[in-house]
Amino acid sequence: MTALSIVVPCFNEEECLPLLHQRLTGAAVASFGSDYEIILVNDGSRDGTWPIMERLAAADPRLTCVNLSRNHGHQLALTAGLDLARGTRILIVDADLQDPPELLAPMLEVMEREQADVVYGVRMSRAGETRFKRATAHAFYRLLSRATEIDIPLDAGDFRLMSRRALDVLLAMPEQARFVRGMVAWIGFRQVPFAYDRAERAAGETKYPLSKMIRFALDALTGFSSAPLKLASHVGLLLSLGSLLIIGYILFAFVTGHSIQGWTSLMLVVVVLGAVQMFVLAMMGEYIGRLYSQAKQRPLYIVQDIAGEARMPRRGLG
Ligand code: UDP
Ligand code: MG
Repeated sequence: MTALSIVVPCFNEEECLPLLHQRLTGAAVASFGSDYEIILVNDGSRDGTWPIMERLAAADPRLTCVNLSRNHGHQLALTAGLDLARGTRILIVDADLQDPPELLAPMLEVMEREQADVVYGVRMSRAGETRFKRATAHAFYRLLSRATEIDIPLDAGDFRLMSRRALDVLLAMPEQARFVRGMVAWIGFRQVPFAYDRAERAAGETKYPLSKMIRFALDALTGFSSAPLKLASHVGLLLSLGSLLIIGYILFAFVTGHSIQGWTSLMLVVVVLGAVQMFVLAMMGEYIGRLYSQAKQRPLYIVQDIAGEARMPRRGLG
């Protein structure tokens, strides 16, 4: 057991790595001397991330680097790193240094003082991110908090310090679609927020294009809420009531001998019903697809190589 494990998922982050390694090391040494480990996970990068990791790991015995077989996505890369962590405390950061590693010391202080199992970063401001990103993130966290029964903190990313027992519970959860920040919130124990200002990316561009953002949001929503399914039943009820009114109207018109103008009203009903039905089907599909992938029980990720201290994660083949 080491006192601290720092876990970082990395996708096409070659420009950030040397500075990342330097700043993580600085922060860890300041708090724990030599009693720490850093775990970098290469999530199938297409740039020079892995060769740089191998070089860094060769020169630093406290650094372990994991090479996944392909791009498995942020949350699974993170899980791969967490599976390897041996620390009594675990710090999760992003590779782009948007979460300043130097906050480790004040976060540790909060953890001690509050006897907390989780100290999670809450973004007060987000520097260098597009208006679109900020607006969608803002809306997403609020929608999620309305839709879910558990309290997933607003504006909190994966930047957090966790205790070993919280991590063990997290790793025991069998989900294939992993929305880590929500799963941590679900665990319970004492979790306290830690407000910070999110820095700009150290280098490069966001690795979250719209398609990944949508998938991430759907994983969160389907993983923690059945609200979309309930919405379907509410809409269904509403439409049924509406149809009663229309039936009444049609019968009334028939009995009193009024002819009803057809095309407009007919098309309206067809289009509205078609759209609602497709939407409900699509929502059900999101759940069914996840049920299917859960049923297949494939490994969450595949490890191709490990540089640094040789050990295998608890999950994932290699
Ligand atoms: N990331 C990853 N796999 C992916 C996409 C992203 O491991 O498929 C990592 C990325 O390298 C970074 C973290 O996830 O360490 C967050 O990504 P990014 O900073 O691009 O997201 P943003 O801060 O723009 O939301
Ligand atoms: Mg980032």
